Amino acid sequence: MNFHIITIFPEMFRSYVDESILARAQKKKLINIKVYNPRDFTKDIHRSVDDKPYGGGPGMVMQAEPILRAVEKARGRKKNVKVIMFSPGGKQFTNKYARALNKKYKDVILISGRYEGIDSRVKKALRAEEVSIGPYVLTGGEVPAMVVVDATARQIPGVLGHAESLEEKRIASSEMYTRPEIIKHKGKNYKVPKILLSGDHKKIEEWRKGR
Ligand code: SAM
Repeated sequence: MNFHIITIFPEMFRSYVDESILARAQKKKLINIKVYNPRDFTKDIHRSVDDKPYGGGPGMVMQAEPILRAVEKARGRKKNVKVIMFSPGGKQFTNKYARALNKKYKDVILISGRYEGIDSRVKKALRAEEVSIGPYVLTGGEVPAMVVVDATARQIPGVLGHAESLEEKRIASSEMYTRPEIIKHKGKNYKVPKILLSGDHKKIEEWRKGR
């Protein structure tokens, strides 16, 4: 799967995806992540990507043209490309959405907004879908893009290592413990639940289901 990220902060994005499981997935060529900076698609000397909103109001708005050019560069001649634009008011992103994305598309373009948001003509011109990662407002669309890449990539067979995908199927509980058996914090002892030390796998499974 190819992820094309449109952001004015490319380094911010790369620092997340070039570590750990996502780095391994890129090495194994299971995913490919390319980042495009709208600033590289500006035509003025200041490389500006934002301007004041028409009709007045606070803050600045991201200009449409540098983003449209960056998207066209990312799209190239590819067909069946999904274009997503991040917005706190968009469609809620879920695991189900991630699975559908993975099933239907080989190329996904993710547009991260900044400032007060993106000129609305981008959505119209690209027939992009507005997607939200949750009911709160962030300072930019980079974290949402990381969330979508991360949650979608782990749906791709082979991205999670054998142990990780096995663990995912096996542990039906959000409660988990590792060594040591007892920890002391501010004079109080915290112990691992006895059942997990019992060696009775059937009972452990049942206990986990109930958590
Ligand atoms: N004025 C906008 C509003 O109230 O809808 C907020 C813009 S926000 C400060 C700047 C950018 O961050 C947005 O264009 C979007 O790309 C991103 N963003 C912020 N919160 C988000 C969320 N919950 N889900 C997805 N994207 C978000």
